[in-house]
Amino acid sequence: MLLFSKYIFLPRFHAVTIWPFIILKHKKLKYDQVIINHEKIHLKQQIEMLWLIYFIWYLTEFLIRLLLTRDFMKAYHLISFEKEAYSNEKNLNYLSERKFWNFLNYF
Ligand SMILES: [Zn+2]
Repeated sequence: MLLFSKYIFLPRFHAVTIWPFIILKHKKLKYDQVIINHEKIHLKQQIEMLWLIYFIWYLTEFLIRLLLTRDFMKAYHLISFEKEAYSNEKNLNYLSERKFWNFLNYF
């Protein structure tokens, strides 16, 4: 389900997914298939991690990577969920080919 809000985003971020919602910064982004695919990959990750575990893992991994890199954007891009999503966002068939817990291959 798509929602729109331009007020909740840090600069450089355009979308956030909190199952069952994909929240976009601007309405026109709903036509961007790569962004939507990226967020749908996060939907799938959240479902298979039973939602709450996903966010605990995401935040923990982010904080560890932030400690190691001391760089907010670098730490964000190194989170295994993000690495999987960014690596496959341009493959619009990815979700139909993807294996269960495939983010572990990006850990
Ligand atoms: Zn992402």
